[in-house]
This record gives sequence, structure tokens and C-alpha cells, in this order.
Amino acid sequence: MRIREFQEMMRRIYYEKDRRRGIERTYIWLVEEVGELGRAIIRGDIREIGTEVADVMAWLASLCNLLELDLEKMCLNKYPGVCPRCGSVPCKCNEPRGRRLAL
Ligand SMILES: [Mg+2]
Ligand SMILES: [Zn+2]
Repeated sequence: MRIREFQEMMRRIYYEKDRRRGIERTYIWLVEEVGELGRAIIRGDIREIGTEVADVMAWLASLCNLLELDLEKMCLNKYPGVCPRCGSVPCKCNEPRGRRLAL
């Protein structure tokens, strides 16, 4: 399944509910699911991490449906097979140090 097909599936299942909820509250749900993913990572529960990854993807797809954005197209526009900053594969950019989960 392509990202586009997943987004279309989410549209078929949830678009009416998403539309009634609106963009801002759907965004808040997405952020909540990202938080749940972070807590699952800290707990180290691989099964739970898997379900939270799916929730994040589902809510991101719902948000894109409301914003009328083609998620697959946006991803490939920004990441066209190379790092968008340095243009290399693999990326040669320096990453800021010291980033850690703090939940
Ligand atoms: Mg969840
Ligand atoms: Zn790079």
C-alpha cells in the first residue's frame, strides 16, 4: 500500500468525523498520539510502539485530508530521494547534539 492509498483509506473511514471535528482539534489529536508514541518508546514496549506509530500515521493522514494535502506528494516534494539540506545520500548534515526524550 502506498502512502496515498493509506490516506484515501483514512478518508473513506473517517472523513465525515474529521470534517465535523475540524483542523485544529484533529491536529491536537495528532500531537496527543505523538505523545503516546514517546511514552511507549520510554517504556520500551515494541508492540505498543507499533500501534502508536500507526495512530500517528492515521491522524496525520486525517489532518492532511482536512487540509486537502496529498501526504505522499508532500513527502516526496520535500524528500526527493536525497537529503533536502545537503543533497546527499546518505545525509552528511551535522545534527545538533543533546536531543533527548523528556516526557
Ligand atoms: Mg494511540
Ligand atoms: Zn543532509
